Amino acid sequence: MASSLKAVPSQQAQTAKRSVTVLGSTGSVGANTVELLLKHRDRYEVEALTANSNVEKLAEQAKVLGAKLAVVADETHYEALKAALSGTGIACAAGAGAVVEAAERPADWVMAAIVGAAGLPPTLAAARRGATLAFANKECLVCAGPLMMRMVSDHKATLLPVDSEHSAIYQVFDAKRRDGISKLILTASGGPFRTFSLAQMADVTLEQALKHPVWSMGAKISIDSATMMNKGLEIIEARYLFDMTEDKIDVVVHPQSIIHSMVEYIDGSVLAQLGTPDMKTPIGFALGWPDRIEVPAERLDFSKVSTMTFESPDPVRFPALRLARESLRLGECAPAILNAANEVAVAAFLNRKIEFLSIAAIVEETLDKVPNCTLADLDTLYAVDAASRRFAEAEIARRSA
Ligand code: NAD
Ligand code: MG
Repeated sequence: MASSLKAVPSQQAQTAKRSVTVLGSTGSVGANTVELLLKHRDRYEVEALTANSNVEKLAEQAKVLGAKLAVVADETHYEALKAALSGTGIACAAGAGAVVEAAERPADWVMAAIVGAAGLPPTLAAARRGATLAFANKECLVCAGPLMMRMVSDHKATLLPVDSEHSAIYQVFDAKRRDGISKLILTASGGPFRTFSLAQMADVTLEQALKHPVWSMGAKISIDSATMMNKGLEIIEARYLFDMTEDKIDVVVHPQSIIHSMVEYIDGSVLAQLGTPDMKTPIGFALGWPDRIEVPAERLDFSKVSTMTFESPDPVRFPALRLARESLRLGECAPAILNAANEVAVAAFLNRKIEFLSIAAIVEETLDKVPNCTLADLDTLYAVDAASRRFAEAEIARRSA
């Protein structure tokens, strides 16, 4: 028995290194991914890294990981990137087109961790060549859900969720017996204003909104968590990732963020995935898939978990949830209109141009006024996205006049 066990070579010895590309490597998800790649250098080699403008961090990551290519989306930083990488043998490029080209290079696995709809062209480029896509950039599915899922299926790409809720669902979703699934239950921390009254929310500062009680994340998703638009975007993301209708996707507020989401079955069983709130766990799940890899995240210590509480989200203080559901029911380009308006409104709040409660108000106004149209192709989508951004910008200018 012992000798036959010894004769089986280890999984690691059998498999060649997996080549990986990280889109948005300098961000919160990107940097966590880089940390895991460094920990598992024996398993991965890096094809390309991309960032928007943080050339210093990008060059440092490219050097330490021995990447073949580093790309900065903002072309004004090209010379700085070239200088930072001179003599290293690492190729560099700049511009939005170069980010798409980076995604087109033949890496087995691509982390989609750009923020916003700006990540759509490179994410689709990776899907189009049948890559394994570790998917964090939820705005892509929000804008282009049906188009993106069709592309993934037509080109036999693999979509692995990285958002902690969707990673949790993926891990307990019995895809072979999906008739037995009655609903998905997304958990939400409730964000920094969970217990605030509407009057208190009217006066919150940018600093308060950026300070998430549980998760450490990039600026845009931190504000989305404070308005709970993040959960709205996640309902849309779940709708497409798991092909479940909107009425079968529930949200429950669970401030401790220990249960990362659940699947309810028709026999009444509820399966959940649990863990400490650390994005390295879902990133590591996608990076190792179909194996499991060691992840340096704090372990859940049940002797210290004294309580787990659950409550319904308040639709009055958090209208973003209702708006996201409404956009899904309207269908076609409506989720893209919602997303574009939200990106513009969040950027304005980050630039201290509008009050916190104006974010959802601007999204509602844009969703109401910009005409929805059939999501026929990407050109239509980009046109609707641009029209929604223009409308939201004008609405912001009108409010601050
Ligand atoms: P972030 O702001 O920290 O990082 C964004 C990355 O995208 C950076 O590398 C930035 O350089 C790059 N980028 C920004 N604009 C770009 C552009 N126009 N072109 C090319 N690159 C651009 O964001 P994040 O918090 O890491 O989130 C990334 C995505 O993952 C978002 O869609 C977010 O919703 C999702 N997500 C994040 C977390 C988290 O814990 N941070 C959790 C779940 C899902
Ligand atoms: Mg999430």
